[in-house]
Amino acid sequence: MATDLPPAPGPSGAPPQPQRLCPHCSTVSQTTARDCPFCRRSFHRRSNTAAIVVAIALGAVATVGSVTALLAATADEVDREINSEISTIQQDIEDEVARAQRQIEAEVRRLREQLPASGLSAP
Ligand SMILES: [Zn+2]
Repeated sequence: MATDLPPAPGPSGAPPQPQRLCPHCSTVSQTTARDCPFCRRSFHRRSNTAAIVVAIALGAVATVGSVTALLAATADEVDREINSEISTIQQDIEDEVARAQRQIEAEVRRLREQLPASGLSAP
């Protein structure tokens, strides 16, 4: 393992090589490179952050999807109830109109019978 270590800091005058701990393989190396010289993965936990962001986004999408589905289901239910109510009210109105029509016809017949047999007479 020691033979795999990168060369020690260069001669005086060269910029000092910072020690870096790889978050993936836990190897300490002296390098300015962005990637671990041992496992070749980035020193930055960007992939982890991306995974968390993706997880949160997926969670949010799932939540929005659930809420949307719930709202859609509720809307469907409300739609059905409203349609049922409308049908009932429409039926009630039709019944009411038919009853009123029968009453008007009966009243008209009654008034006609009360009129003098000669019909409309001049005053
Ligand atoms: Zn590594």
